[in-house]
Amino acid sequence: MLKETEIKKSNRLDFSNGWSYAPAPESTGHINIREKYGHFINGKFVEPTEGEYFDTVNPATEEKLAEVANGSHADVDAAVKAARQAYNKYWSKMSGRDRGRYIYRIARMIQEKARELAVIESMDGGKPIRESRDVDVPLAAGHFFYYAGWADKLNYAFPGREPRSLGVAGQIIPWNFPLLMAAWKIAPALATGNTIVIKPAETTPLTSMKLAEIIQEADLPHGVVNFVNGAGKTGAAIVDHPDVNKIAFTGSTGVGKIIQKAIAGSGKKLTLELGGKAANIIFEDATIDQAVEGIINGIFFNQGHVCCAGSRLFVQENIADEVRDKLIDRMSTLIVGDPLDKNTDVGAINSKEQLETINRYLEYGVQDGAEIYQTKCALPDKGYWCCPTLVGNVSQSHKLVQEEIFGPVLTIQTFRTPAEALEKANNTPYGLSGGVWTDKGSKIFGMTNGIRAGVLWANTFNKFDPTSPFGGYKESGLGREGGLHGLLPYLEL
Ligand code: ADP
Repeated sequence: MLKETEIKKSNRLDFSNGWSYAPAPESTGHINIREKYGHFINGKFVEPTEGEYFDTVNPATEEKLAEVANGSHADVDAAVKAARQAYNKYWSKMSGRDRGRYIYRIARMIQEKARELAVIESMDGGKPIRESRDVDVPLAAGHFFYYAGWADKLNYAFPGREPRSLGVAGQIIPWNFPLLMAAWKIAPALATGNTIVIKPAETTPLTSMKLAEIIQEADLPHGVVNFVNGAGKTGAAIVDHPDVNKIAFTGSTGVGKIIQKAIAGSGKKLTLELGGKAANIIFEDATIDQAVEGIINGIFFNQGHVCCAGSRLFVQENIADEVRDKLIDRMSTLIVGDPLDKNTDVGAINSKEQLETINRYLEYGVQDGAEIYQTKCALPDKGYWCCPTLVGNVSQSHKLVQEEIFGPVLTIQTFRTPAEALEKANNTPYGLSGGVWTDKGSKIFGMTNGIRAGVLWANTFNKFDPTSPFGGYKESGLGREGGLHGLLPYLEL
C-alpha cells in the first residue's frame, strides 16, 4: 500500500464524517448457489475428470462462495465432442425460426431470474448492485432478444449471399461483465447456427453456472451450449483444440496476442476484444457539470473494471482548474463499499491480484512525481478496495497514461487546440473507445473522425445497446461484437 503522505486526500466536502445514506442492502435470501460446480457438458452438470477444484470468493468479504472445477484437456475434449455432435445432429439442421424460439426462451428466463442473477453477479464480482441490476442483467437479456430476432433473417442481413454457420465456437470471457460477456458471445453464435464451448473467468464463474441452469431449463438440445470452468490452461486447451472452428476472446491484450499466435495457420476464425485506454476530451464550450458526471460514470462506477473506461481525461487548458475542482468535489461524494447496498457507487476490486496491480501503478505514479488525489473513503476491514483516484502532473509517456490499469484511476492532462487533443488521444497502443464533450456539432464530427477507436461517445459515456457494434483498433482487438456486425464472425458467406 502507498503511504498516506504520498497520496493527497481531498479534504473538500468530506461526506465520510458528515451526513450519509442509511444502508439499503439488497437481500440475498432468494439466491441459490451450489457448494460445488463442475462443468456443464452435453446438457448435464458433470464432475471434472481430474477432480480438481478452486474457490470462487466474494471480493467484498473474502468469503468463499463456492468451489468450481478446474477444467483439464479431457474436460475440454468432452465439451467439444458434445458440441460437435449437437451441431451435426440438431443445431445446424434446425430452422432459423426454431433456433430463434430457443433463444427467445433464454432471454425471457434471464428476465424472470433477473434479481437472483444481479445479486450473484455483485457477490461474485464485487460490482455495485445498481450496475448489475440496471446494466448487466437487462443488457444480457437484451442481447438474447436481439439475436433471437436475427435467427430466421440471416438472408436479409446479408442480401444476395448465402450465410452458413461455422461449426463449434470456442469462447473465452473475462471477469468484468461475466453474464453480459457470456450473452455477447452465446447469443450471436446460437442465432447463426453454431454450437458452443465457453469458459467463464476463474474469479467470476457463478452467473455462467446460473446461465447453464437456464439453458438446461430452456431445454436446448444437449450439447448446443457447454460451459467448461477453469483458468488460463483450460482456455488454452479450447484455443488449441483441433475440432473448434472459431475462437472468440475477450480479455487482456497479452493473452489476446498469445491466442492470435496459437491459432495462426489453423484456419480458425478469430475475434479479439482486448484492452483499452480511452480518452475523454472536454472542450471549453462543453456543459461542464454534465461532462463531470459523464467522466465520473466513465471511470469510477464499476471500479474502472471496464475495457472501454474513460481512463485518460484531456481538458482544454482554460477550463482545467474549474473541471478539476468540480471533479474532486464530485469524487468525494462517491459512496465506496458494500456492492449489495443500493446506494453504493464504487464496489470492491474484483480480486487481490487486481488490487495489487492497481497499487503497483499508483506507486509508479508516486516514483515519477505524479500528483495523486484519493477521496477519503471509510473502507470495510475485509475485502479489496480502492478509493476513487485522480492523477495529475503526468506526461504522455507516463506508464499511468499509456497502460491499462483497470481500476478507479483517472489521469488528467490539458490541451490547447483540437489538433493537440487528437494527437494526445491517439498516442497509445490501444483504440477501443473515447468520448468528446462539446457544444459544437462540427467539433464532434471532427474529433470522432480523428480518434482511432472503435466506439465513440459524444456528450455521454459508456452507453451500450445490443444493436450497436463494439470493438477496437490497434491493440484493442479485431472484429466486432453486437449489432448486425456481430453476426459476421460466426458465419461464412
Ligand atoms: P484479465 O486481465 O481481464 O483477467 P485475462 O486475459 O488474463 O484478462 O483473462 C481473460 C480470460 O482469458 C479468462 O477467462 C482467463 O482464464 C483466460 N485466459 C488466461 N490465459 C489464457 C490463455 N493463455 N489462453 C486462453 N485463455 C486464457
